[in-house]
Amino acid sequence: MSENGSQPARTPDKQNPARSLDAHVDRYAQRTAGMTASEIRALFAVASRPEVVSLAGGMPNLAALPLDSLAAEVSHLVAQDGQVALQYGSAHGVPQLREQICEIMALEGISAHPDDVMVTVGSQMALDMVTRIFCDPGDVVLAEGPSYVGALGSFAAYQADVVHVAMDDDGLQPEALRQAIAEVTARGGRIKFLYTIPNFHNPGGVTLAVQRRAEVLEICAQHGILVLEDNPYGLLGFDGQTYPALRSTDPDNVVYLGSFSKTFASGLRVGWVLAPHAVREKLVLAAESATLCPPTLNQMIVSRYLSTHDWKGQIKVFREQYRERRDAMLGALEQHMPEGCSWTCPDGGFYVWLTAPEGVDTKAMLPRAVTQRVAYASGTGFYRDQLGSRQMRLSYCYPTPERIREGVRRLANTLTEEMELVRTFGTTGRRSVPGPQAPSPDTA
Ligand code: PMP
Repeated sequence: MSENGSQPARTPDKQNPARSLDAHVDRYAQRTAGMTASEIRALFAVASRPEVVSLAGGMPNLAALPLDSLAAEVSHLVAQDGQVALQYGSAHGVPQLREQICEIMALEGISAHPDDVMVTVGSQMALDMVTRIFCDPGDVVLAEGPSYVGALGSFAAYQADVVHVAMDDDGLQPEALRQAIAEVTARGGRIKFLYTIPNFHNPGGVTLAVQRRAEVLEICAQHGILVLEDNPYGLLGFDGQTYPALRSTDPDNVVYLGSFSKTFASGLRVGWVLAPHAVREKLVLAAESATLCPPTLNQMIVSRYLSTHDWKGQIKVFREQYRERRDAMLGALEQHMPEGCSWTCPDGGFYVWLTAPEGVDTKAMLPRAVTQRVAYASGTGFYRDQLGSRQMRLSYCYPTPERIREGVRRLANTLTEEMELVRTFGTTGRRSVPGPQAPSPDTA
């Protein structure tokens, strides 16, 4: 610090320019090389400006939560059980909550013992822990293409190599899975697990067809590949339908992740992992070294909510709210999108995956969309290998139906102009068209 308290000006390091920006650059572990800010995070700053309709983020809509009665419950909880609620707990999680989690999983055909459940700080922590205990640098994780950006971040952080498996409207394609396994095996790669989001996929918006589920499990079992089933949206099917969890068919070869983020409150950060007993033991050791234990108060809030509120009725309210928004988005896409665009039609969850015509580069187009006051998540962020340049994820979970319709109208205008530019100049990715700078990760 200088005398007036400001940071001294840095002397540029000509030999190593990166050091001029970060004096610690030579000290970081190699694994940090794979840690980059996701494109979605980089977008947050611009997308949250009020004039911009953000179809980019995946924030659950909490407007329907009964905040007053929740406040009363929390206050009661701290007054009555504060000595326990504000204390350390076990790394495994609060026993009563683990029992309730088993009842929730039974809705998707899972029969599990509470001992095999570990509560985590959101299912994101479970993704991190599972990757930590299974993946050495260079190991291969198979994942749908596109895939959840937070999972790709965890795999990158442990230097695992992701190989994508194609999807269609019925989810992961078994034939593409066979091919991916054959290719990785032929080049001597070591596959650790298949990461899959079978229901209401993020970002794909599709669901793995029931008749494909047994086949996917069979292929993995045949090749000795563990399945990591990530299911935060399973109870958010718009018709109230649930699908049999992969875990319900093959308990010994599936690690299952669940979360209260989309069905209750994402800010409490309570999720879980259900794993074969020996795997669960390893996960508890890994979790202890990361967090000692998940937050006791938050777990008790969730547990109390489940026992005192009509949580199934609340999920129904969420489903209806999301269905209305999905309908607003699909209707507006149908009405406004230029010829040549296609998109998925989700039966649940938060997301539509849109494919633009040949030549459009959605990442290059994004600053121009923001100028037109609409934001989306461009497709390449959902792949490890730069695929997805013609795709984008559109979230309908958070804005009101009117804002969604307006956002889609603005996006359609942007795309129409973009396609005109493509016709005149060629692909947008290689062209320099004036527009605001894309936000840098540092501004997010
Ligand atoms: N998996 C998927 C597929 C998700 O979409 C998300 C959140 N967007 C998560 C895991 C992480 O959820 P959380 O940590 O809030 O439980």
